Amino acid sequence: MPSERLLIIEDEARIAQFVERALIYEGYRVSVARDGQSGLQSARDNPPDLVILDWMLPGLDGLEVCKRLRAASSVPILMLTAKDDIKDRVQGLDAGADDYLVKPFSVDELLARVRALFRRATPVSKPEVLRFADLTLDTGTHRAYRGERSIDLTAKEYDLLELFMRNPRQVLTRDVIFDRVWSYDFGGESNIIEVYVRYLRQKTEQGDEARLVHTVRGVGYVLREEE
Ligand code: CA
Repeated sequence: MPSERLLIIEDEARIAQFVERALIYEGYRVSVARDGQSGLQSARDNPPDLVILDWMLPGLDGLEVCKRLRAASSVPILMLTAKDDIKDRVQGLDAGADDYLVKPFSVDELLARVRALFRRATPVSKPEVLRFADLTLDTGTHRAYRGERSIDLTAKEYDLLELFMRNPRQVLTRDVIFDRVWSYDFGGESNIIEVYVRYLRQKTEQGDEARLVHTVRGVGYVLREEE
């Protein structure tokens, strides 16, 4: 039985109760906060192993709560949202959310997302310095370098680059990239990977620096040197 402690921050009593019961039934320990302010307080007083955070909260909204939680810890954050708009999701990711669940959702879906987040939150491994061509990535400091040039990455850009650098010269399919970097479904039409690969290229391929992240048309991407 799992014994992880989850914090639910949700103002709608019906949904909070539904989620709480499902998690307790699975053996998780659960706390519930009804607004952002008390949720942050609860997270400070008794740090949870995972936070389920509603986007639409009175007062401090979910996005702001997410930013503040993320500033203080690396606890996995699953956001609940009625907004199914891609811009909102990107905004949430930039705020530090790890995954999304769009309302209405099923118990099974909720539990699957929670399990997936716990699987991803594996114990912190020893910092390593990954190298490919003249690209360097320090997993301890999350700094990247192209030659001597230091590159500032957002959290998701870092995750994407780390995935490439741990699997050099291997074609990574869109599905693999989704699963490893986002772990939720943006739908078939989504261009989130293209958007983030573009961000990554803008940062890692400046001036006359050679292309390293190559597109494999219709399949995905590969980190390799120019042929
Ligand atoms: Ca709400």
